[in-house]
Amino acid sequence: MEIYSIIRVCNAYCCAPGLFFNSVLLTLLHHLGSKINCNIKTEAFHFVVIGGGIFGCYAALYLAGKGARVALVEKEARLFQKASIVNQARLHSGYHYPRSIATAALSDAHKARFTREHQAFVHAHFEKYYALDRYGSFTDARQFERFCAYLKIPCRLVSEHPLFNFKRLEALFATEEASFDPVLLGMYYRSRVEGHAGIRVFTQNQVRSARADGRNWLMLLQNGQELQADVVLNATYAASTAVNRIFGAADLDLTHEISEIAFVNSAEFANKGLTVMDGPFGSIMPYGKSGLLSLSSVAYTHHKISYDNLPRFDCQTASDPACKPDAPGICSTCARRPTSNAYKMIRQMGQYFSESVHFEHLFSYFTIKSKLKANHIDDGRPTEISKLRENPDFYCLFAGKINSIYEVEKMV
Ligand SMILES: Cc1cc2nc3c(=O)[nH]c(=O)nc-3n(C[C@H](O)[C@H](O)[C@H](O)COP(=O)(O)OP(=O)(O)OC[C@H]3O[C@@H](n4cnc5c(N)ncnc54)[C@H](O)[C@@H]3O)c2cc1C
Repeated sequence: MEIYSIIRVCNAYCCAPGLFFNSVLLTLLHHLGSKINCNIKTEAFHFVVIGGGIFGCYAALYLAGKGARVALVEKEARLFQKASIVNQARLHSGYHYPRSIATAALSDAHKARFTREHQAFVHAHFEKYYALDRYGSFTDARQFERFCAYLKIPCRLVSEHPLFNFKRLEALFATEEASFDPVLLGMYYRSRVEGHAGIRVFTQNQVRSARADGRNWLMLLQNGQELQADVVLNATYAASTAVNRIFGAADLDLTHEISEIAFVNSAEFANKGLTVMDGPFGSIMPYGKSGLLSLSSVAYTHHKISYDNLPRFDCQTASDPACKPDAPGICSTCARRPTSNAYKMIRQMGQYFSESVHFEHLFSYFTIKSKLKANHIDDGRPTEISKLRENPDFYCLFAGKINSIYEVEKMV
């Protein structure tokens, strides 16, 4: 039996739960393969992008737009299933980061371009308020006003409003912040990537092993296919460290949280948004153009935390290969996802509203939120692209705010 057939047989076994041995065998064969010049089918690309969320999809389109031949490798059956869908859909304008001027300025810098290029998926026509909690905030009303003035982002003090509870709010500001629609964005990017002649999409696939071969990377996929590329870009967010390790690159120092976004509606607060700053508070705002409000709370959104560079949680079990520390899965559809904290979030946020305002919880989405440990104090969310290996090149793109997808353009 030739090696390629052996690999296919092994791969069939690899898909079965717990057969780690076959995965090791497959990797060994990959390394042996080229030495004995066996018949492994290799496809050559200029770039292999790993991870099919918004950052990986945008990167693939950008690179293919420059004439490069690109492969996009995605672990799940469909693109856009994790953080790029499960988020609060805030088109950041800077307001959210009074303790990280760098993140605030970066959000604001990309906002105009992101809005212009995604006009059909941006909802900007709603009242958006920011408020300071009277108790326990890291920032007070004066500091928030000064911060907005420094960034030149509009913020108008509102001293009376029938929907809010001013006994609890130190100050309320009318601001200008839009919401993007993650579901529509997902549909748009999926169809653009899948329809692009210069991009080959490999879903339900992971890179099992990789090695430098002269000036190229050679990678073996889960389905037994070998890819060759001049450059590899890791855009896997929660799986950044796991993929870095496959390429012999350094870990990112990360924490990971299993996070819940609750979807609610409210007759009284429909199509409006309130974000309470700056500390363990919360936010409620339109989820794009869906008509739903997304609700999150610093205290209750994050159910479990992992301080390991890999997302390691006690809900992962050896019998479920769909979610492991080195290959995290889709939390929203996982049978072991946490019980919703939506009612706690509604009670917490309820303190900032007058008694006439009511919220009804409809459903929740869950995903892993990953953060750089370095941003623990300032709460910043930079998008960082680091070249971790050279000749052949390997980059790791760790995503911050969605409107910073353009940062990848600094790479090429
Ligand atoms: C709860 C929450 C709220 C947020 N709120 C906002 C907000 O309001 N506004 C904002 O701008 N940002 C927000 N963010 C941040 C933003 O959502 C993320 O930074 C962004 O979606 C990350 O995009 P991504 O493409 O890097 O990651 P993802 O969308 O997670 O995509 C990574 C992809 O890599 C795939 N993958 C993983 N491992 C492998 C592997 N080994 N091989 C192949 N593929 C693999 C995954 O399956 C996934 O499809 C929020 C994030 C969370 C979690």
